[in-house]
Amino acid sequence: MARRIIDLTHIIEPTAPDAQRKFVIHKHDALMEIHGKVRPAGEWYIMSDVELMDHVGTHIEVPLHCLKEGADLAKVPVEQLIGEAVVLDLTNAEAEGGVTLEQVKAAAAGSGGIREGDIVFGRMGKTGYFSTAALQWIVDRGIKLMGVDSGGVELSHDTTHANVNHLLLFRAGIPLIENLAHLDRLTQSRVQIFALPVPVRGLDAFPLRVIAIES
Ligand SMILES: [Zn+2]
Repeated sequence: MARRIIDLTHIIEPTAPDAQRKFVIHKHDALMEIHGKVRPAGEWYIMSDVELMDHVGTHIEVPLHCLKEGADLAKVPVEQLIGEAVVLDLTNAEAEGGVTLEQVKAAAAGSGGIREGDIVFGRMGKTGYFSTAALQWIVDRGIKLMGVDSGGVELSHDTTHANVNHLLLFRAGIPLIENLAHLDRLTQSRVQIFALPVPVRGLDAFPLRVIAIES
């Protein structure tokens, strides 16, 4: 069978400078442009300065997001960002307090199980996030990367900002991808994944392109 490439990334639309999750593009002449040079209609020679909040669009968060000594984007090895992902269908898992352990176990069984070294992607429904027990169980499978198509995994009812679920992942060295797109376009529960942000030293998160390959 021919291999199929599925883009799991939201397109980023540039924003106004005052947007909370901003991605602002300032175009200017390329550094090497000859001042006053006249170019044919339809042509120019530009570069852009970009100003962004690093949690914009489909983005990856690494341990530095919550741990002062945690790994930054440059420290996460590419081996952790490429590999086999198991996709958990949690679209019907509705629960107060986050998707439950039972719901996650059932979804994992339905996708053929979680193996050590797997990437795990959650196709979330209305609930959007995990109960801590459910996330702990996923972490205990020995996964290397987590992703969700919701805004995040944190307990939305926890007003203390203890970051319980974030810390569960980051203390285990597991980065988290938020706002994945198009998980519904996958036809297999196990796919090959490439999830590659630029390796910026000292940064806690960044937009990235996430590609799935089915074969
Ligand atoms: Zn984020």
